[in-house]
Amino acid sequence: MIKLHDKYFKPFIPAQQIDEVMQRLAKEIAEDVGDEIPVFIGILNGSFMVVSDFVKKYPKPCEVTFIKLASYEGVKSTEDIQRLIGITQDLTDRTVIILEDIIDTGNTLAEVHRIFKNEKVKSLKIATLFYKPEAYKKDFKLHYVGIEIPNKFIVGYGLDYDGLGRNLPEVYQIKETQHMTNLV
Ligand code: 5GP
Repeated sequence: MIKLHDKYFKPFIPAQQIDEVMQRLAKEIAEDVGDEIPVFIGILNGSFMVVSDFVKKYPKPCEVTFIKLASYEGVKSTEDIQRLIGITQDLTDRTVIILEDIIDTGNTLAEVHRIFKNEKVKSLKIATLFYKPEAYKKDFKLHYVGIEIPNKFIVGYGLDYDGLGRNLPEVYQIKETQHMTNLV
């Protein structure tokens, strides 16, 4: 069990399992992409670890870039997505694959689709390491999903709670009863 700010978190998904899932996603996407050189786009901040590990496992040439959006306040997703850094290169006729750390309500994904509405890409696909099906409110197709998880707040592997926890190599889930007596 770990404590970040005022909340306790319990171990949820070990680093080894994440590694295996990333390997599977990289293989699956490489097979689908064929001879194209894709542009992988990470959504900062949360996806920096996903992108770093994913592209190391990706077995073929690719390009990597980032856009930066922000939506979370504490442990709640908000609909007010701020676009901090948008697309900075020409993506005309490119095969674009968005790499997300987690898809929760889908609000961030809706913003991604708005950003790409006027881009003349060849194809746009969405890959996410974590997906909370119970929280998802949109209809956008998720092309590659790593692990489906319950609708509970998690930290680690790039995901934070108010700035903390991003550097953890494994994933922790919030403990609902936050009693000190449960600590070992
Ligand atoms: P959505 O817009 O789909 O509700 O949420 C997407 C973004 O919210 C993610 O990129 C991530 O930054 C953040 N987020 C969603 N669920 C969680 C969670 O369980 N833990 C953390 N730390 N961030 C989350």
